[in-house]
Amino acid sequence: MSWKNIRGHDAQVDHFRKLLKAGRLPHALLFVGPPSVGKTLFARTLAQGLLCDTNPPETIAPCGHCPSCKQVEAETHPDFIVARRPEDKSDLPIKVIREEVCAKLALKPMMGKYRVAIVEDADELTTQAANAFLKTLEEPGPGSVLILIGSNPDAQLETIVSRCQVVRFEPLSVDDIEAILKQRGLVTQSAEAHQLALQAEGSVSRALALADHDYQDARRAILHELSSDSAPSGPRLARLLEDHAKTAGKEAADQRRRAVAVLEDLTRFLRDVLWTGAGLTAPSGDAAMAEAAAALASWCEPENVFAAADRCMTAIDQIQANAHLGTALTAWAHDLCRILAGQSPSTPGR
Ligand SMILES: [Zn+2]
Repeated sequence: MSWKNIRGHDAQVDHFRKLLKAGRLPHALLFVGPPSVGKTLFARTLAQGLLCDTNPPETIAPCGHCPSCKQVEAETHPDFIVARRPEDKSDLPIKVIREEVCAKLALKPMMGKYRVAIVEDADELTTQAANAFLKTLEEPGPGSVLILIGSNPDAQLETIVSRCQVVRFEPLSVDDIEAILKQRGLVTQSAEAHQLALQAEGSVSRALALADHDYQDARRAILHELSSDSAPSGPRLARLLEDHAKTAGKEAADQRRRAVAVLEDLTRFLRDVLWTGAGLTAPSGDAAMAEAAAALASWCEPENVFAAADRCMTAIDQIQANAHLGTALTAWAHDLCRILAGQSPSTPGR
């Protein structure tokens, strides 16, 4: 990890350097901002900088090579704690917070001056789990630094927010995303990188998904299915999306992420359909979507497009809450086709 790999957040790096220089690093931080702009990578690099054996913490300049830097990277450093929602749970359980975070943060650092805990899915803390933090926030252990990562302060309990310093992260600029795509060797042509960066709307994970050839093929097929003259077929649509999700490998969590990326993309596509139908320029500026959007707008009523977008968001929520992927996609595709055709969804058990 290195600050060189983090783009668009120089002001936040400066902010932390100043705090450390003045000896005023807060014990509790709440990082907020849209998903996939680098908040977690920022938190991990900050932790590495605080725990590095070679460079002093005040510089927050992790060398990347010393045993501590390597242990932070591998999540094996005794003064580095990471808590995230377990793959099979829909929220962050209190047991994880009590045993993995609070109990360990109360101890003295074993190696250096700091003990750092990162809680990755702070939006998904149960009220009970969030309350378990209060003692840790009121009486922090020596050298302890707790970093909660969430989407926005409104998603957290007021009692938590008021005890944390809130650090905001903005969506990344087109230039930053373009540079990340090139840095990772995913795109070599500047024009292609620029086009993908525009479509990514500030999100690195969306840019990475768009740069993937499997994804582009699946997306083309799904858009074709939705916008062709004949009514789209639910089973065909479900199969397209499920097959694409399976290209992520055997891990259910990876398959879920892949399916969610497509559903988010389709939500944006349906937004484009609404704009196109109203005679406006579609906001995504995505050429591949524009043609399909015009085709769908030509036969589908705007209220149905709106309801279809809503159904995509419900499916995203269900999948993120660990619903069975195949079942959720089958129900979604069935409903979507009926909604677009102006019929009631009528899936049993919805
Ligand atoms: Zn180091």
